[in-house]
Amino acid sequence: MTHHPTLRETLDTIIRRIPDFPKPGIVFRDITPLLADPARFTQAIMAMLGPWRGAGITHVVGIESRGFIFGAPIALGLEVAFVPVRKPGKLPHRVEREEYALEYGTDALEMHADALGDGARVLVVDDVLATGGTARATARLIERLGGEVAGFAFLMELTALGGRELLPGRRVESLLPT
Ligand code: AMP
Repeated sequence: MTHHPTLRETLDTIIRRIPDFPKPGIVFRDITPLLADPARFTQAIMAMLGPWRGAGITHVVGIESRGFIFGAPIALGLEVAFVPVRKPGKLPHRVEREEYALEYGTDALEMHADALGDGARVLVVDDVLATGGTARATARLIERLGGEVAGFAFLMELTALGGRELLPGRRVESLLPT
C-alpha cells in the first residue's frame, strides 16, 4: 500500500533547514518553499487556525515579519481583525513599546496604542517558537494595552529551546513541534 504522508510529514519535508544561518550554530527554518506551494500553504493556514475556531478570538496579532505572512490569512479565516507588532520605528501612529533581553543586548517591539479595543481577545501568531522571548514580549504588550491573550499559534516549535517555559499558563498550539 502506498503511504499517504500526513500534513506534518509534508510540511517537515517542504520547510528547508539552512545550517549556520544567519550565524554559526543556528539551523534556520526557511518557509519560502511552503509559501510557493499554494495548496500546502492553504493547508498549513487551515491547520493553524482550526484549534481557535469558536475560541472567541477578536484580533490576530502577527509578529514582524513572518508572523504577518501567517497571521493575516489566519485573521481572515477567523473573520477577525489583524494587528501587526513591529520592530521599533516602523509604525507611524502612537505606539506602546516593550523591550526584551536578547543573548547580547536588548530588542524591542511596538504596537499601535489604539490597536485593541475593549474586550479584545487576542491570538498571537508567528512562524517559529524558539526561545520564547519574542512571544512573551508580545503577550506583555497586548496586556499593557488592555487585551486578553487567548493563546499562541506557531507553525513550528523548536522544543529543545524550551520556549513554552516562558509562556506558563498560556495555551500554545504548534503545528510542527520538532
Ligand atoms: P524566540 O524569541 O527565540 O522564540 O525567536 C522567535 C523569533 O525568531 C521568531 O520571530 C522566529 O521567526 C525567529 N526564529 C528563531 N529561531 C529561528 C529558526 N531556527 N529559524 C527561523 N526563524 C527563527
